Formats: sequence, structure tokens, C-alpha cells
Amino acid sequence: MEKYLSQLNDAQLAPTVQKDGPMIVIAGAGSGKTRVLTYRIAYLMSQGVDAFNILALTFTNKAAREMKARIATIVGESEAKNLWMGTFHSVFAKILRFEADRLGYPSNFTIYDTQDSDKLIASIIKEMNLDKEIYKTKQIRSRISSYKNSLITVKAYFKNPELMEADKMARRPLMGEIYRNYVDRCFKAGVMDFDDLLLKTNELLTRFPEVLAKYQDKFRYILVDEYQDTNHSQYLIVRALSDRFQNICVVGDDAQSIYAFRGANINNILNFQKDYDNVKLFRLEQNYRSTKNIVNAANSIIDKNQTKLDKIVWTANEEGPKIKVNRSLTDGDEGRFVASSIFENKMQNQLPNSDFAVLYRTNAQSRSIEDALRKRDIPYRIYGGLSFYQRKEIKDVLSYLRLIINPADEEALKRVINYPARGIGQTTMDRLVVAANNYGKTIFEVIQNIDTLPVNIHGGARNKLKDFTTLIESFQVMNKTANAFDLAEHVTKASGLIRELKKDSTPEGVARMENIEELLNGIRDFVEGQKEIADATASLAEFLEDVALATDLDADKGDADHVALMTIHLAKGLEFPYVYIVGLEEDLFPSAMSLGTRSELEEERRLFYVALTRAEKQAYLTYALSRYRWGKLIDAEPSRFIEEIDDAYLDIITPIQERRFNPMLDADIFGDPEPNKVRFKKPVQPTLKKKGPPVSKATKKEVPTSKNLKPVSQTKGHTNLFDGKLAVGNMVEHLRFGKGEVLKIEGTGADVKAEIKFDNGGVKKLLLRFAKLEVI
Ligand code: ATP
Ligand code: MG
Repeated sequence: MEKYLSQLNDAQLAPTVQKDGPMIVIAGAGSGKTRVLTYRIAYLMSQGVDAFNILALTFTNKAAREMKARIATIVGESEAKNLWMGTFHSVFAKILRFEADRLGYPSNFTIYDTQDSDKLIASIIKEMNLDKEIYKTKQIRSRISSYKNSLITVKAYFKNPELMEADKMARRPLMGEIYRNYVDRCFKAGVMDFDDLLLKTNELLTRFPEVLAKYQDKFRYILVDEYQDTNHSQYLIVRALSDRFQNICVVGDDAQSIYAFRGANINNILNFQKDYDNVKLFRLEQNYRSTKNIVNAANSIIDKNQTKLDKIVWTANEEGPKIKVNRSLTDGDEGRFVASSIFENKMQNQLPNSDFAVLYRTNAQSRSIEDALRKRDIPYRIYGGLSFYQRKEIKDVLSYLRLIINPADEEALKRVINYPARGIGQTTMDRLVVAANNYGKTIFEVIQNIDTLPVNIHGGARNKLKDFTTLIESFQVMNKTANAFDLAEHVTKASGLIRELKKDSTPEGVARMENIEELLNGIRDFVEGQKEIADATASLAEFLEDVALATDLDADKGDADHVALMTIHLAKGLEFPYVYIVGLEEDLFPSAMSLGTRSELEEERRLFYVALTRAEKQAYLTYALSRYRWGKLIDAEPSRFIEEIDDAYLDIITPIQERRFNPMLDADIFGDPEPNKVRFKKPVQPTLKKKGPPVSKATKKEVPTSKNLKPVSQTKGHTNLFDGKLAVGNMVEHLRFGKGEVLKIEGTGADVKAEIKFDNGGVKKLLLRFAKLEVI
């Protein structure tokens, strides 16, 4: 047996050496699915399968690079190079480039990112004189995206009365028209958006049987990681390509399907066995990633989902510490807890920063974590924010480069035609757009032919426009001979961009200059890297394609030592020794938007499962009792997910940080037997809770222990009416809740509480020992 195969257990070995036929590996987190896929590729090559005939589709390009590097250590660098590996988008962008002319696209088509798509949609809405409050750009974009991912073309849309009716009901009767305009404009501009890369691949494979046959013959062995998150469009591509040889191997975990909101279809994995004949099903059960406590806790969570395949996950790893649950008063305190806990763990165990990850449900949550990490001088990196290539100054340079490759690219042109300022105003631009639409030309062509077309633009503006096209044309000439780096460097100077940026000597301005330098370095690396590959052209077009499809994770060279901050969605497939899952609060995680149906709630629960199973050694769950959201301080309730974890695996810790005192919140925790009555107005779905009122275990556990109770003396300095001066009917004022009337007083001794109806409408029970009240 080959040596590397001894690094697999028997269950993993079986799918690895199952050479031919359709097969699926369904297994829980950390059980080695990705490892099987990696080793399987090496095995296929050892069995004489040509690397050129293998296609592996991964969730990120970074994952593909890592797999390829691992395979290279087994089969050798030069062979591994020939493998086709990457995300669906990057692999099929390459194929589309070869075949573009069949679909009427130029082979140098450029790619719109979501920013570009949004801008085009916004300008279409404006040109159509539609109300942008009803026709919201982002909503329209996501509608269009879901049409495309379901393979509903414009034609299909207008043949589908149900869809049109649905848009009418949503007060968007012109949705179809916008869709048509958007598609036409992209086509005319010679660009594809992200969804087109899949949609057009499908079109290519269905309309041209000879093309399908060619790629079926090329990709004799197809492997797909994270199959549970493929959407319909991706599913059809895989089906079509694997149809002839049926050597298709997919691996996935239904319990980790978390992209339904982007069109992922969990049924793709559930139905795989129906889609092919004689499917071999493999299961892996041993988890190698995490401690027993983490594995068992994760199992106890996913157990609550009704829709799932039965799976066993166990581990031979050590028991490990219990999962720590921490309560904070505010999101700021939560950040401070996370930072000090990371700091302590680092110091005690001499660990690098890269051993730690902080995972959250929404990007907005990163701010309080960042603030706290910065205060402690702990280096961190946020993934998934604005990627490097989407920063303004970088997109400006890239837009010039895109225009060189593809002068029809409308959004690139609009971005730089008057940047740096050349005196080309909005009115001129509006007229150009109208003319382009009227004459069926691109804006660039209109400008090139401005003297022969009846366009209402006066002489001065005409000359400025002509100067601009001349500039771009001169770059195009240079592009024929110069390499991408020399060209890009020339462009930054000749366009005036550098001069413009140099005017700004603020730290931000300097940072922008540095970013441009970094981009140029990146282009130089690309050119150097391509030199090693015999048939590579190191062309600007290739560089732009890489950049357009780079995700934020891909940009990470993995060389710096920092704490990773990212959303759970992005963390799929990754692992870290220490993981902090923050913001475990009702309405945040699970998200308020997911509480409408069981299936949405189950997807949130899968998301929590993904988060927890990223941890190798130790997991922390944190929540705050109040949090700034949408600019307001709101009360929060611990997430039901904390309660759902079996007690045996939890360790409820008291906050490490100095607690700031908050009378209302502490009253709820320490005194009120029915806190939810006053605090939580939203009905909690009763079937989803195990028992009684929805009090979190985490909270409950803290109630009886005397060490959790803060001594009364801690209220020193507050006005409190604990000594019994308060009576029913008193009007009182509370620092946070304002004025109110005392409805009821109950309890004895340290537990005396007042029920107060505040003018703002809320009725609250306050523990007088703590409450900061004044009789007015
Ligand atoms: P996920 O569901 O999160 O994507 P996965 O099933 O793909 O997880 P891998 O990432 O392949 O799991 O493996 C999890 C960890 O366990 C990795 O660090 C991997 O190197 C390690 N591992 C897997 N199999 C073995 C094995 N047989 N021996 C030692 N380590 C293993
Ligand atoms: Mg994996």
C-alpha cells in the first residue's frame, strides 16, 4: 500500500480507493471528508489517471490551493499543477473564456462584482424613473441572482405567470423589465456577473452538445467538497459533466448546509442516490478535530433538528475542558471578555494568535471585538469585510485595467471617465448613456464616433471625451507588448491617479498609496509566478479574472500571526484550536429573520453546529444582556442554542471583567422569578423549548449560587429605595426607563420588587435593592 494511505482509517480508506463509479461520502464535521477527497485525488493519479482528467470543486480557492499543495507532496509538484481545482466560479470562468464566442461574448469578457451589479441596477432604476424606495437595489439584485441560480432566464421569466404575479404582489410589477435591461446591458458591455458564470456554463453545456462532450471527456473524474451547499445551477453542471463516465465523488454533511439563503439546495445531497445508478454510500464516523466535549455538545445540538440524516460522530480525542459560557452586560463587555480570555490563554499556554478565532453571526458584531483586541495589542484580521480588491483606490486602478481589456465594460468606464477629474460632468454622462441605449452601441463606441453621431454634447466636452478614449487606446497599444506589471504601473501614472492620491497627505491618503503599491506588487508576483508555467501568457486578462473571483479568504497568505475574525458562514471547513462564538442571543443568533418557519430555524441551528465544530481544543460561547443594534441599546435574551446543549458539556463561568453595574438587568437575573414576562415581549415558540418559561440554563444556573450575588454595597452611590420608602401609586423616575407609576410592591427582605408601568409603555419589575429610582 502506498505510504500516504496509512494516514487514513479504514472507513476513510474505502472511499479513497473506490476508483470508479458514483459515490457519496456523508459524514459529520471533522471526520476527514476533505482529507478523503485530497488523498483520493493522489490515489487516482497513482492508478494512472491523468491529472488533466481530474476536476475538483471546492468551497474556496484557498481550500483548493491547500489541497493541491498537499497532493503535490505526494505526487510531485509538476504533476499536481495539471489538476483542475478551484471554486465553481473560478473553474467555469476559465472554461467560459475558451468558449465565450459561442455564446456571443468576447473572450476578454470582464466580471462584475456585486458592487458593479448594484451600480448598474441603481442606474437602470433611475433611467426607468422608478421609485427607489420600492425598487430597492439590493433586493432587486438578490431577486435577479435567485432567478439566475434557478436557471430562470429573462425569457423564462416572461413565460412564467406565477413569478410575474409574485413580483406584482410585491409591488414590483416592472421587476421583469429591470431584469431584461440588466441582462441586456451586461451582455452589451461584454461582462458577466457571478451568477452568469454558472448560468452561462449551463447554457453552454446544453446548447452545444459537442462542447459538453469535450468537457465530459476531459473531466473523467469529478470530485466535489461541501456538496450540501451546491445550488441548482451548480448541481446541473456537475450532473451534465459527470453523465458520461459517472465517476463522480461528492462529500458533504447535510448538518452543515448553511447557504439556503443564497439558493443552496440541501436536497442535492439528500437526493444524490436517486440521481445516479449504483451509488456507493460511505460514512465516516470518527472525528479527528475536536475534543470529546466539543463533539458531544455538537451532537446534542444537531439532535434537535427534525430534518436530518442519521449520523454518528464520535472521537478518540481527549475529553478536553467543558465549553465555557460567558454572560456579559453589554456588547462592549463581551468584547473585553473575549480579548482578555485570548490574552490569558496565550500567556498561560504560549500560543500564537493564529490559534484563535472569533466567530459571529453578522459582520456588524466585529466592531466591539476589534476595539477590545486593539486595546490589548492583540493582532487580528477581519475576513469577509470589504475585500482588498473592492477598496476604492484599488477598484479605480482595476477599472482602468478592465477598460483596457474590455472597453465595453460600462461600470469600469463610468468609474474612471472622470476620475481623476477631467471635467466630464454628470449631464454629459447621462447623454452618453441615452445615446448608447438608442444606437445600440457601448458608451466607449459612442465617444469614439461622437463626431458622426447626433449626440447633444458641446465641443469642449467632446474634446475631453476624445482625450479620454485616446488615453485608453494608448494603454491598449502598450498591452500588446508590455507585461501586466509594467502596464499597470504605467497606467497608475499616466491616468493621473498617483498624482491625485499624492495630494492627500492624511494617514488615510498615505494608506491608499500603500494599497496601490501592494496591488502593483501583487501584479508583479502574478507575472513572476506565471513565468514558471510553460504555456501561461501572464496576461492582464488572467490577472483580472483571478482578482475578480478572489474571496477575502483567498487573499490570506497565511504568513501573518493574527486572531481570525469572521462570520460563521465563512468559517465553513476551517478549524482553530480556540474558538469564541459571540453574540449568542435570541434575535441575533438565531437571527430574528429566521424565526418564521421551522426550516429557517433549523438552518440557524446547523449554522451553530458549524460554528461549534470549528473548535479543536476549547470553545467559548458568549452573550450580552444588552447590545447596540441599529444605533439603539436593546435588551437581549440568551440564545436558545445555549440551552439546547446538554448540560454535561457546559461550564458556566462568571464574567472575568469588572462588571459595570446595571440595576435593571441585574434585577432580572438575581431576583425576578419570571424575567421574561417583563423583558421579552416576543412570543417564544413553545415547541422549540424543552420546558417551562424560556429561561436559559445559563442564566438559571447563576441564580442560586451566593457567590454570583453582588453584595448590596456594590450599589453604593446609587439612589435606591430598598429601605422601603416606596408605595403603590408613587410616580418615580428611572435613569434609563424614564418616568413611571408603581403598580405593585411584592416580596420581602432583599427580594422586594416593584412593578412599575413606565410612560414609554413598558411594565418592568425592578428589584429595589438595585434599582436606581427616584420618587417624583
Ligand atoms: P468539515 O466537515 O468541517 O469540512 P471534514 O470532514 O472535511 O470537516 P477534515 O477537515 O478533512 O474533516 O479533517 C478534520 C481534521 O482531522 C483535519 O485536521 C485532518 O487533518 C484531521 N484528520 C482527518 N483524518 C485523520 C486521520 N485519519 N488521522 C489523523 N488526522 C486526521
Ligand atoms: Mg471539509
